[in-house]
Amino acid sequence: MSSLLVDNIGELVTNVAGSGEGGPLGIRRRAALLVEEGEVAWVGPAADAPAADGRIDAAGAAVLPGFVDSHAHLVFAGDRAAEFAARMAGEPYTGGGIRTTVGATRAASDGELRATVRRLRAEALRQGTTTIEIKSGYGLTVADEARSLRIAAEVTGETTFLGAHVVPAEYADRPDEYVGLVCGPMLAAARPYARWIDVFCERGAFDADHARAILTCGQAVGLDVRVHANQLGPGPGVRLGVELGAASVDHCTHLTDADVDALASTASDDGQTATVATLLPGAEFSTRSPYPDARRLLDAGVTVALATDCNPGSSYTSSMPFCIALAVREMRMTPAEAVWAATAGGARALRRDDVGVLRPGARADLIILDAPSHLHLAYRPGVPLVRQVLHNGVPR
Ligand SMILES: [Zn+2]
Repeated sequence: MSSLLVDNIGELVTNVAGSGEGGPLGIRRRAALLVEEGEVAWVGPAADAPAADGRIDAAGAAVLPGFVDSHAHLVFAGDRAAEFAARMAGEPYTGGGIRTTVGATRAASDGELRATVRRLRAEALRQGTTTIEIKSGYGLTVADEARSLRIAAEVTGETTFLGAHVVPAEYADRPDEYVGLVCGPMLAAARPYARWIDVFCERGAFDADHARAILTCGQAVGLDVRVHANQLGPGPGVRLGVELGAASVDHCTHLTDADVDALASTASDDGQTATVATLLPGAEFSTRSPYPDARRLLDAGVTVALATDCNPGSSYTSSMPFCIALAVREMRMTPAEAVWAATAGGARALRRDDVGVLRPGARADLIILDAPSHLHLAYRPGVPLVRQVLHNGVPR
């Protein structure tokens, strides 16, 4: 059995609340961390560090749990750079461009889709993302949704069936029939490769009745629920997610008091809410839209996660540090809240307790920064601060 000691850590963010400074971040100074068999085996003062087969000298830098990106759409073909340029020139975002990507995705070979997924997964890993959720949703046929999930499952266990991303053009005047297809043969074909089911519950996509029908069908075959909710305007998505016990409702840009109250009502004994509000500021950035009010959610006691929403239309970034910087600058989160939301918050949104945290028994997924503190992730926006990544204990 080989062991690896990460030594001489200036600031270790554990996310074990109460185990050090910084409240929920559980910060330890002058620390060390031992990795064995892909897991964290020991955390403590550098002066007490045990012997190990290998050693990484963090040289006084900050070490954090790897980022948990709980919302990404990596299975697609083509890009929409021209649509982005048009939007920046003043055209509004409506979500209609999804159909452009659907056409390109259907026309692509398995090899092309696989290459894109692997390229983006590697890009995210270099920036510190050690756990990533990947959705289907650009195939929208039985065969194309199934192959999207099969390819996603090659790089992550957190796969989400999003056959209900948008009603495809060929079903535009028959949405009920499309919902039947999603709940029937498409779900059956997707099920072997999916852990989650998701719906884009929004005007122009799926209404509350259709979304409830689809999510309930997914639950009946063992998939857990997450929802794209309240992105483009107020709507029923957040309350529907809470009603169905969703792990996360994502976007949450347009919330009523009733939506916030519904989320807060899912508070559990550990002080977190069972349904997490996942905020995706890359989407507001890239569509030049008002940001969600993170402060309102946090002040109401709602657990908040940050994720990239990486997709070719509305948020083509794979960078969790960029999302942290946006959350601090534009959404009035503190740097500590944003770092927690991008690590432990993402883990909560995926109902995982083995990632987003550095304690004995957790996965040895961590990042070493080129900086003395987690604060620098927001303080130095756009700078590649992730010096080294350990994924399952293996240096990348
Ligand atoms: Zn999304």
